[in-house]
Amino acid sequence: MEIINRRKRMMSVARRLRREENRTIGLVPTMGALHEGHLSLIHGARALCDVVVVSVFVNPTQFGPNEDFAAYPRDLTRDSALLAEYNVDYVLAPTSEEIYPPGFSTYVTVEGLSDKLEGAARPGHFRGVCTVVSILLNIVRPNFAFFGQKDAQQSIVIKQMVRDLGLDAEIVVLPIVREESGLAMSSRNAYLDDPERRAATVLNRALSQARAAYDEGEHNAARLLELVRSTIETESLARIDYVSLNDAETLAKLDKIGDRPALLSLAVFFGKTRLIDNIVLGSERNAVSAIA
Ligand code: AMP
Repeated sequence: MEIINRRKRMMSVARRLRREENRTIGLVPTMGALHEGHLSLIHGARALCDVVVVSVFVNPTQFGPNEDFAAYPRDLTRDSALLAEYNVDYVLAPTSEEIYPPGFSTYVTVEGLSDKLEGAARPGHFRGVCTVVSILLNIVRPNFAFFGQKDAQQSIVIKQMVRDLGLDAEIVVLPIVREESGLAMSSRNAYLDDPERRAATVLNRALSQARAAYDEGEHNAARLLELVRSTIETESLARIDYVSLNDAETLAKLDKIGDRPALLSLAVFFGKTRLIDNIVLGSERNAVSAIA
């Protein structure tokens, strides 16, 4: 495994792999502090591609001014050891200056989709995400890039960007990996103290109750949302940012679930830590492309 810090080096390695060796490349973009959610993406990439590149970059442009950029967990030594164990071929770990050299002034914005849900709660977030993902896609030029359903809106926005810009990479979205408690794996779970971590398991319980209600025929948005809210509100440590039901492709707000997949998503604070989670109701298999 080679750790690459320079974009020029990564570009020339990727060019050689593609052109001279005719090998397919899979890219897994991450911000490090790796957990099993990330590892499932790497596993997916290994299954589908000859060469696996994992980027580890805490992207400053996707954090708001009052968010956790400075506090975000960073441990490249631990991450590299894990990645070597997982037979990753290349780790792209650039500095901020390498990605955003002095004078940098070009940003990528996906209009519409970026303004809803996470984008409404975190202005500028998806502009930062799309900018860095388009740079990474251009450096590595992978055949496939792997993202998690955990960040459902991110995957939707990135797919739109790839379509609109005609980028030559296939976006693969893989299911959410959860702890045994049901808590969705996240690097930000490291911020939780024990009582908060226990409390946070309410998110998956609330979403699972909504799924059960949906399966029993409840397709009304207001009632499903109320079910999720009232369950979360039983936890005194939880403070809801939003709970929302949207079309899983267009993100249009829904009054009821029809014959298209619907995204039931939420953001909830436990102390200072903001967690997100979601489920897709109705034809989930159409919304999440799983690898056999
Ligand atoms: P991050 O390092 O948090 O930016 O995440 C990098 C990638 O891993 C993103 O595509 C996330 O959606 C994905 N990811 C994060 N947590 C999970 C999880 N629990 N299950 C599946 N994918 C995940």
